[in-house]
Amino acid sequence: MNLKLYHFMPDKLNLYGDIGNVIALKKRCEWRGINLEIENITDTSNIKLSNCDMFFIGGGSDREQSIATEQFAKIKNEFKAAIEGGTPALTICGGYQFLGEYYKTVEGEKLPGLNILDFYTESYKDKPRLIGNILVESEQFGDIVGFENHGGRTFHNYGTLGDVVVGYGNNDSDKKEGLLYNNLIGTYLHGAILPKNPNVTDYLIKAALENKYGNYEFPDINNDIELDANRYMADILRNKK
Ligand code: GLN
Repeated sequence: MNLKLYHFMPDKLNLYGDIGNVIALKKRCEWRGINLEIENITDTSNIKLSNCDMFFIGGGSDREQSIATEQFAKIKNEFKAAIEGGTPALTICGGYQFLGEYYKTVEGEKLPGLNILDFYTESYKDKPRLIGNILVESEQFGDIVGFENHGGRTFHNYGTLGDVVVGYGNNDSDKKEGLLYNNLIGTYLHGAILPKNPNVTDYLIKAALENKYGNYEFPDINNDIELDANRYMADILRNKK
């Protein structure tokens, strides 16, 4: 079985270990006998998103984000079609912010987003960055742990990954983290998120397999080490509360 992942702008959008997400996807596919081919996309001019089974966009500093905006704008319609069609995708922090209407930097510059989803993100000069370890309780995925570091506050009415127990998540007011729409996940969690949250990793792989191969029986693999790491962090954060 073969799957293809497009990894957008790995040279520009890769903060706080985001590349670990791609390694986790690759490994958890491999352990199930699935070959995950990874294609790094640095120029979007001639790419067709319909040729991939999932895609990944990592986080970036404001500077990198403004450079990457141009590349993403070229394939805006492709992105929309893929997301509406149920292509699984993971987008982190800056990568997540691109999908909305705009991201206003701390300097007040308004970087247009792809406007695929109805949300916006703003940083404020007089408000601190949202930094630290984060614990989210998710109905679908259980405890999700990670690290966040962002100035942007994102506001939307879509489904989320869950409720913030420790940390900030989408913003510093509504205690919700991330976005879940069709099979698209937007999240502020770095760290990287996937290695220590195997339920999220498997959700993406499963969705890609279902899209491509229909009713495929997903093999169980041993998650003891990953879940131990998840529990260890979740316990520390809960006890600190
Ligand atoms: N530059 C964006 C912000 O500060 C995204 C940062 C990130 O990707 N970690 O909100």
